[in-house]
Amino acid sequence: MKECAICKSEFAEEDASSSPFTEAGEWLAGEVWDDAGMLCPQCLENRAMLSMMYLHEKNT
Ligand SMILES: [Zn+2]
Repeated sequence: MKECAICKSEFAEEDASSSPFTEAGEWLAGEVWDDAGMLCPQCLENRAMLSMMYLHEKNT
């Protein structure tokens, strides 16, 4: 089990379900935040949803 860097809840990496947001979150974790594998699926998903709103502005 790993401990999520954001919410501190434990999660199993192989648990990572693949919703479009989780996948986006994993990509962002690797490419943008450099903390891939350190966040639970829930946080990845939440962050992906927020990022989709913010990165928009950042990229323009
Ligand atoms: Zn979390």
